[in-house]
Amino acid sequence: MPIYAYKCKKCDEEFEEIQKISASPLKKHEDCGGKLEKLLSLSSFQLKGEGWYRDGYSKRESGSDVAKRTREKLTSSNSD
Ligand SMILES: [Zn+2]
Repeated sequence: MPIYAYKCKKCDEEFEEIQKISASPLKKHEDCGGKLEKLLSLSSFQLKGEGWYRDGYSKRESGSDVAKRTREKLTSSNSD
């Protein structure tokens, strides 16, 4: 699921929401009721995206494949 960044025009808080593509964008800051501005922060997306990939997305890959690839990597670096 994509991560959307928002900034509140009232309290200036910036935060990110993981939303379904089909979900409508947030309009109101739940904490203060201020109007939200949708940010297109690519750098922020990539930073968070890495963690997202490690923590969640990679679980979709089968564990044995990852282990095998890691072993191959270790073996090739040792044999040199
Ligand atoms: Zn706010």
